[in-house]
Amino acid sequence: MKKCLPTFSFTILRESSLWSLLYSIFLFDIVATSMSPQKKMSRTTSTKNAMHWFRKGLRLHDNPALVACLEQSPHRFYPVYVLDGNSYQLLRCTPLRTNFLIECLQDLDANLRKLGSRLYVLEGDPTVVLPQQWEAWDITHLSWEEDESGEPYATARDETIVEKAHAANICLHSVCSETLYPLQDYVKKAGVGGVPATMTGFQKLFGGMKAMHKVLPAPRKEDFPVTDDQAEKNLYLPPKKPIDLPWPRNIPKSEVDYVWGPQDCKSLTPMVHGGETLALKALEKSMQDATWVATFEKPKTSCTTIRPSTTALSPYLSWGCLSPRQVWVAIDDALTRAKGVTRTKPPVSLHGQLLWRDFNNLMAHDANQESPGCWNKMENNKYCRQVPWDDDPKLLEAWKTGQTGFPWIDATMRQLSSEGWIHHLGRHAVACFLTRGDLWQSWEEGAKHFEAQLLDADYALNGFNWMWLSCSGFFYQYFRCYSPVGFQKKNDPTGMYIRHYVPELAKLSDKYIYEPWEAPAAVLQKAGVKLGDNYPRPVVDHKIVSKENMSRMKEAYDAHKEGQVPAAVANKKRRTK
Ligand code: FAD
Repeated sequence: MKKCLPTFSFTILRESSLWSLLYSIFLFDIVATSMSPQKKMSRTTSTKNAMHWFRKGLRLHDNPALVACLEQSPHRFYPVYVLDGNSYQLLRCTPLRTNFLIECLQDLDANLRKLGSRLYVLEGDPTVVLPQQWEAWDITHLSWEEDESGEPYATARDETIVEKAHAANICLHSVCSETLYPLQDYVKKAGVGGVPATMTGFQKLFGGMKAMHKVLPAPRKEDFPVTDDQAEKNLYLPPKKPIDLPWPRNIPKSEVDYVWGPQDCKSLTPMVHGGETLALKALEKSMQDATWVATFEKPKTSCTTIRPSTTALSPYLSWGCLSPRQVWVAIDDALTRAKGVTRTKPPVSLHGQLLWRDFNNLMAHDANQESPGCWNKMENNKYCRQVPWDDDPKLLEAWKTGQTGFPWIDATMRQLSSEGWIHHLGRHAVACFLTRGDLWQSWEEGAKHFEAQLLDADYALNGFNWMWLSCSGFFYQYFRCYSPVGFQKKNDPTGMYIRHYVPELAKLSDKYIYEPWEAPAAVLQKAGVKLGDNYPRPVVDHKIVSKENMSRMKEAYDAHKEGQVPAAVANKKRRTK
């Protein structure tokens, strides 16, 4: 739905019931006004039955679209989630990610039940199953949280839903609440010059925005109509296990990267579990130590601790179990408590991390406005330089499975597959290693793998950071390259992190834990390490390839300056046509 309505309306909604009533009638009348007078009349006089469609905003707190829907005082109210195997959230997901979603849905259902309501979980293509339920439940009003980044599947889906809802005379309402400010507000503020493509520029833009809107409380029991659910009591329940999800999806299995079965769903070890309840607890815990919050400096956090050295709130923000404004306010509260402490500032502070998030979303939105669906791709993406990456499935597989022969890279990739989360600097290292640093494979492949594996996989953030790390966009200092050996040695000289995630090397002495290929045969033997057998030899020689890659990057940059597409990129495009 293109009509992004200002969030201020919801502050007003909560503050004055008269305004609330008038404003919500006005908002929901947007679609009603396009009806024929007769139909409009019948709609306004008939009973209101409302549906709130949960997509990413899997929470009750600070959910303006949900609040607006309830403000309609519907006779019946249906909070709905649609399990859609083709959505960005599920298309490429691993059992870990699926499990996280199930936990979110279970929690949402439990919290709604405490308020006398419940969650209705449907399955299939929302553009088909939702209209069926509108008819079955006689739905008159529909609300949802807007998807603003321009992710192509969601955009096409929502356009169809709007058309079908129009045809069914349903009053629609969507709200932009995924970011601190609606992205349209940034666009408006930036004006004719367009949105800035640097963090410094974004911080300036952010600084000029009007005050942020208040965080909305979760609805109360009395806000919900009394539900008589007897007939559907045992229907539309949230799934219990990853394997309960719709499968096969309605695309051929050969087109899905990750096909898994029940055996893959056993003994999952996610970094965090899903759901709004745990999200709010995790937020509270992160904010307990006010001095830690006030002095947070991202580059100084460590990626080699077994427990996260940052907040690890990203999966909750990504699925919308936490509202970014709620996190912003919680940080504000902690800063107020941290008296006499010199505070860090954006972009390295904790507030700064939320600014990165909004900035990334704005960039995705802007790129997709110009060329729909280009974000997460090299081609036709105005922010992405054309680099002639190689295409070597064996190297890619070695990277994905943590079998590159570089212990620290392998440990990080194995943490990703076993826990679904890695620290930001770990992401830096493995992304640089896959692309410009060592393996010279396309960042698009790396991004796809992250989308499947990360509990926090996020269309806008993932694309932005992969472009950054591969020096394809937003960051251009390709001559600054992470060493897959030395980068974390100072933080973790005994290689504790490696020993944890790469048990084959657990007995190796500190001296060789980052570089087993340098160890004398007797040392390897004593530690039970057989290079090329139970642990791989390095897949590349870092010293050689990193230099070669820098000159290949220079060529790509020179071609870019001259407005050319590097020959290898142009040839590849011809081959794939
Ligand atoms: P904290 O440092 O505690 O920050 C709090 C929140 O701020 C995060 O939860 C996140 O929402 C936001 N944030 C933090 N760092 C960034 C950043 N660099 N850019 C944008 N927002 C940020 N993050 C995702 O949420 N989803 C992704 O798919 C994703 N893909 C990435 C891919 C690569 C190659 C890289 C280098 C980074 C990626 N990130 C992604 C960004 C970042 O690594 C994670 O958001 C962060 O590590 C999450 O940990 P945290 O919640 O402890 O972060």
